[in-house]
Amino acid sequence: MKIFIFTILLLSQFHLTAQRFCGTADYLNELKKNNNSISANQDLLESRIQQFISENSNSGQRVVYRIPVVVHVVYNTDAENISDAQVQSQIDVLNEDYRKQNADVNLTPSIYSSLAADCEIEFCLATRTIDNLPTNGITRTLTTAGNFGMGNAVKQAATGGKDAWNSTRYLNIWVCDLSDPVLGFATLPGTTSAPFDGVVIDYRAFGRIGNLSASYNKGRTCTHEVGHWFNLIHNWGDDENSADDCAGTDNVNDTPNQAGPRFGCPTFPQASCGNSGDMSMNFMDYTNDACMYMFTTGQKNRMIAAINSSRSTLLVSNGCEPLPAPLVCDTLDNVIGGDGLTEYLSNEFDSLANGYLTGTNSYNDISFAEKFSTNSGKQINGLLFDFSTASTSGAGIVLVRVWDASGPNGSPGVVISQKSVSLQLIANQISNFELTQVDFDSPPYINGGFYAGFTMLNPEEDTIAIFSNQDDEVNTNTAWLQNADSQWLPFQDTLAYEIKISLAIKAIVCNPVGIDEDLETATSIAFPNPSSGIVNFDLKNENRNSTWIAYSIDGRICGKGVFNETLSSLNISEWNAGIYLFQIQQNDKFSNHKIQLIK
Ligand SMILES: [Zn+2]
Repeated sequence: MKIFIFTILLLSQFHLTAQRFCGTADYLNELKKNNNSISANQDLLESRIQQFISENSNSGQRVVYRIPVVVHVVYNTDAENISDAQVQSQIDVLNEDYRKQNADVNLTPSIYSSLAADCEIEFCLATRTIDNLPTNGITRTLTTAGNFGMGNAVKQAATGGKDAWNSTRYLNIWVCDLSDPVLGFATLPGTTSAPFDGVVIDYRAFGRIGNLSASYNKGRTCTHEVGHWFNLIHNWGDDENSADDCAGTDNVNDTPNQAGPRFGCPTFPQASCGNSGDMSMNFMDYTNDACMYMFTTGQKNRMIAAINSSRSTLLVSNGCEPLPAPLVCDTLDNVIGGDGLTEYLSNEFDSLANGYLTGTNSYNDISFAEKFSTNSGKQINGLLFDFSTASTSGAGIVLVRVWDASGPNGSPGVVISQKSVSLQLIANQISNFELTQVDFDSPPYINGGFYAGFTMLNPEEDTIAIFSNQDDEVNTNTAWLQNADSQWLPFQDTLAYEIKISLAIKAIVCNPVGIDEDLETATSIAFPNPSSGIVNFDLKNENRNSTWIAYSIDGRICGKGVFNETLSSLNISEWNAGIYLFQIQQNDKFSNHKIQLIK
């Protein structure tokens, strides 16, 4: 009995068909049955690819393209839930094969060795999701599906698979149990809709470590399928079943005409169609993993053309760009260290107002605010309050606020951020001896001075008090109040209270994200700042071909490009108002400019 179970296990885990079988052509034929426009799309794309190749054939060294990858592991058994290391081994194989860094490329027969190409394409596991959340580029989905076979089931959560990440930004690779004999299949450019675009590989043929099928244990199934995804077809031209199996073509001019696929590990040469030997070592043939090890220059040109023609959105994807560094935050505190804090005015006004700052037992003042100053460009993520009393007859709230300092005589001016907080919540926190922390959903940016405090909506009905220092320090004079007539007064004012105090409020301020401020400074300058839409960059006659990249405060890349003139302008008037961080690279020097866009 034990032997029987073991045998079944062996078969189910490790058996794959002896001959390689790629499902890409069959998958495409199924798509074409249901969509008459696919062939026309492919013809149009083919003409664009040929045009690109003819216009760029002599361009020499090109940039190295970097493709962000997400690998979706869709598993039903532990064996199918392949390790992160196995996934990484596949990425390593792709990078070696597409950069001609695979050691076995040296096995290429001499008559073809000059054709073997460095395709100058690299692959990286995604470091950020479409929502800019951190990721290792691998998703894992437990499924009840036994196996998937060819089709879109594995590409949809609704059918037991995993939905694609935006395929304009990532190469989606699904790894699952494909029904024998299919090792993998891919979507050629322009043949399917975005949610189904990508590559599917059997888990027994993915990567080069783990429990892999013996003939497919070097990651070449994925190298092959990604070749399809870049618009390569099989090197024999997929005409093996036609009357003249030498008539077809793979649209690549340096792969020899070949009658049909080669399987296993043939000795070279095995000739057909009058060639000097089938190029069975080509990644787009059907040989075993150990016996395929090259793309040709013609295949490379075709793939580069496909990237530029139909997959160009990947070239501006930030899927592999590192997430901004964690926020570095501090608290600003205007209460002098060592000061004793007491409930505001509790001694002086005990008989009159029972010490309350505002509310039913006191004056009907509207707002209280504490003045702060900070370096420009800080982010105020939240405020901390040490309230001493809070009560409400109903569902009372206070509005926690940040004001700029643009009011008369430097008083609080425009409210730049606010959040409502329940008085009952504050009362509960007071009874638990807890501070009240309020985090802003959209943290405002501050240049210089600002005020932090709160506004009481119904001082006739509700009550609030806050701890303060009340010892008339010379270094205080930082608290202001807004009286029932909406007039702002400093606490030293005879119209307010003739006492200088600081309220127990702290501001949680953070550095901008995404930029290392200490990079070596280049000579560029940017102006004006703030800008109402046009920003000018003066490169000081250094390095006209400088690259620029702009980040929003949450680390998103808002734009990038090249400055071709020593004095260049950008129009960012379409962007949302806010702070943007421009990083300019002039050769090995960087300069950063924090630009505020106002509207
Ligand atoms: Zn194939």
